[in-house]
Amino acid sequence: MENKTEGELYIVATPIGNLEDITLRAIRILKEVDLIAAEDTRQTLKLLNHLEIKKTMISYHRHNEGIRTENLIKQLKDGKKIALVSDAGTPGICDPGEDIIKECIKENIKIIPIPGACAMINALVISGISTKEFTFVGFLPLNKKNRREKLEEIKKANKTVILYEAPHKLKNTLKDLSTILVDREIVLVRELTKIHEETIRGTASKLQDNVEDIKGEIVLIIEGAKTKEIEQLDKMTLDEHYAFYEKQGIEKKEIIKRIAKDRNVSKNEIYIKFI
Ligand code: SAM
Repeated sequence: MENKTEGELYIVATPIGNLEDITLRAIRILKEVDLIAAEDTRQTLKLLNHLEIKKTMISYHRHNEGIRTENLIKQLKDGKKIALVSDAGTPGICDPGEDIIKECIKENIKIIPIPGACAMINALVISGISTKEFTFVGFLPLNKKNRREKLEEIKKANKTVILYEAPHKLKNTLKDLSTILVDREIVLVRELTKIHEETIRGTASKLQDNVEDIKGEIVLIIEGAKTKEIEQLDKMTLDEHYAFYEKQGIEKKEIIKRIAKDRNVSKNEIYIKFI
């Protein structure tokens, strides 16, 4: 009887900037596997050259995930050991990975995680914001309706919220956040593990003034809504609710908009009470 070895898929975390951030085990696995499936083979080649590893690579990115998954599953069923890597950090976290993992589960193929860098976890642990409970949103949707819904979820979230953001979209994101978050602290962590690593703290509106020419890769850690604050808003009279926002220097039009949102009523209903 043929003694066929079983295929294995390794989900290998790679550095998010500093090339030293790779584990000994990850290096060994990258050396031992038959094939590396990489989000961008040119990017991974830089890492392999640095580690002095020569290995066959195949591209595995958003636009060929479907077809490549099929091909990789076939090779895994033939007993191949394959490492999946993304451009940076942990595959599957805002990077390709989910599809092939689901297929492996269906096909009963062993999946082995090789832990390492992940931007959101490292930003979270240095933020000083609660790590007890958190929700990872990734990139905010660009579609208007989906974005509005996600922002509404963030407004209500009573746990830490983590966002990924690109520098050219940051200003717009902070502007959107400033319209829904009262005075929640936000920690902007950028360029983790790199020369220009930096942490900036503030509220959404304060941060807006500090990010004019910001560059690099960014994680936003947002303090959870204080449950008490939400409860307090619910218990306030309309005048107290108005005064609560007024004290923060918010303009009348915006106050009316926020009260209407908090109370789930139309802006007009609030507006006529304050003319
Ligand atoms: N798989 C990656 C991980 O494990 O974090 C995330 C990949 S996602 C396509 C890229 C986003 O991750 C960037 O836009 C940024 O928000 C965040 N990111 C990646 N590297 C980072 C770094 N060195 N510093 C800050 N954020 C980073």
